[in-house]
Amino acid sequence: MSMNRVYKFHAWLIKTGQQNHPPALRRLLLWCAATPSPKCLSYFRALFAYIPSPDTFAYNTIIRAHVAAHSSPSHAISFFTQMRQQGVPPDNFTFPFLLKACARLQLGQDVHTHILKLGFLSDVYVQNALISFYGSCGSVELALNVFHAMHEKDLVSWSSMISSFTNNGFFNEALALFRQMQHAKNVMPDEVTMLSVISAVSSLGALELGQRVHYYIKKSGLELTVSLGTALIDMYSRCGMVDKSIEVFDEMPLKNVQTWTALSTGLAVHGRSREALRVFYEMKKAGLQPDHMSITGILVACSHGGLVQDGWRVFKSMKDEYGLEPMLKHYGCMVDLLGRAGLLCEAYEFVEKMPIRPNSVIWRTLLGACVNHNHLVLAKKVKKRLNKLDSYHDGDYVLLANAYGGAGRWVEKANVRNSMRAIGVNKKAGSSSISVDHITHEFISGDNSHPQSQSIRDFLDRILESIKDTGYTPLTSNVLHDIEEEEKEHTLGYHSEKLAVAFALMSVKDTRTIRVMKNIRICNDCHSFMKHVSAKFGREIIVRDRNRFHHFTNGSCSCQDYW
Ligand code: ZN
Ligand code: ZN
Repeated sequence: MSMNRVYKFHAWLIKTGQQNHPPALRRLLLWCAATPSPKCLSYFRALFAYIPSPDTFAYNTIIRAHVAAHSSPSHAISFFTQMRQQGVPPDNFTFPFLLKACARLQLGQDVHTHILKLGFLSDVYVQNALISFYGSCGSVELALNVFHAMHEKDLVSWSSMISSFTNNGFFNEALALFRQMQHAKNVMPDEVTMLSVISAVSSLGALELGQRVHYYIKKSGLELTVSLGTALIDMYSRCGMVDKSIEVFDEMPLKNVQTWTALSTGLAVHGRSREALRVFYEMKKAGLQPDHMSITGILVACSHGGLVQDGWRVFKSMKDEYGLEPMLKHYGCMVDLLGRAGLLCEAYEFVEKMPIRPNSVIWRTLLGACVNHNHLVLAKKVKKRLNKLDSYHDGDYVLLANAYGGAGRWVEKANVRNSMRAIGVNKKAGSSSISVDHITHEFISGDNSHPQSQSIRDFLDRILESIKDTGYTPLTSNVLHDIEEEEKEHTLGYHSEKLAVAFALMSVKDTRTIRVMKNIRICNDCHSFMKHVSAKFGREIIVRDRNRFHHFTNGSCSCQDYW
């Protein structure tokens, strides 16, 4: 319904003297509610003021319109206050809208009290809204209280609770609840439920669980919709099995830009740059226009594959062919691409000429590249620019300290380290997780909290000893890689991913693939360690770090040491 028609109708009402006629006003209100935009809302409010004594329906309509317009949740709340002051009774439709408004403003615990006082707490519709409300405010416990107190839970109750868990990072809890849901009576998970479940699995990177979820979808006869299929493609890639992503992609009857993008980005982070590019161009052939996301994915592919020419071509085509204005992240990808390839001056020039003001991430990317390529002069120059933007980022200090250390300038290095301590900058601890027989074990660098910690370390020492025969030497001096590089002097040998792999070799004797999920980038030494272990023990090892996947087999990595 266009606003023009609403105005015309209103004008007609006035002309025919019906402007105060309740059914006519009602119709007008509903039309306004169906066209929620900030502009029509002010008109709507003016109209509302003319209603002699608005009833519950009128209030619900105006509250809903303000919630749907996204921009005016506070108006919605003041209409509710007015409603209460006028003694108009709210009903079970009032609260779900109100709760949505409160969730956006991150307030509204009193609404719960109102609901309780007015006796709506046993209404399923209201309860479900409360679960979503608490979930979106980050109060998972309160959401769970409502959920548990419900006598009858419907599909929406389960879905809302699962997504509350997922959205707040409680992935295992989300999956546990999904298992319970499968035993519950009268509910069948639908697409919405499954999207939350898949999102939880993807965040955990838990392949076995993912396979079970996929099997469940097939078995339950849920249609492989575009969103569901796209989520599965993304899930398999995040769980380290991008070949399954391709399978799902081929099975999908309908695909959109997100679907193609999920596949090409998946291939990109697995180091399969050429294939990613092919998918990108096939998408074009299929008549779909790439969006900002697809371009980002493809630039990542070029960056990880060292495909400088292709990267430039795609970057330039954004504007020329697709009419897309490059955003900060696309410039970032280009700096990364040039930096990794060692084209440092070109990268510096690129940043200088950017039409958007480069942020600290861009400068930091460049700094990382300078350090990796041992270009100290440029590194110092970049660091100065970075200092102007934010001087408290720990990574830069670590990086520069390492650059000096690597070049044998220990005094400067000590100075940087000291100034780091003086302003209280700390490093992020590296952590890796691994799933063995459905249990997830987490390891933190240099930490002894795992119950088998001592025997894992002993076993790791033996591995380190044994791969020395095949030519492994700890790369203690060459530790310039990461922006968030881990402490090395003492703990290099016990970086979290090494502990995780040692644990896997200890506890799983068959030749299953070892899958490690890591929070920050893998360092050079661990990378070399993985290669040697994959050859010595004849095992495939997959490490997901912050940026990409490394597949280690027979002594080499899928990234071809370019990461
Ligand atoms: Zn390491
Ligand atoms: Zn690698």
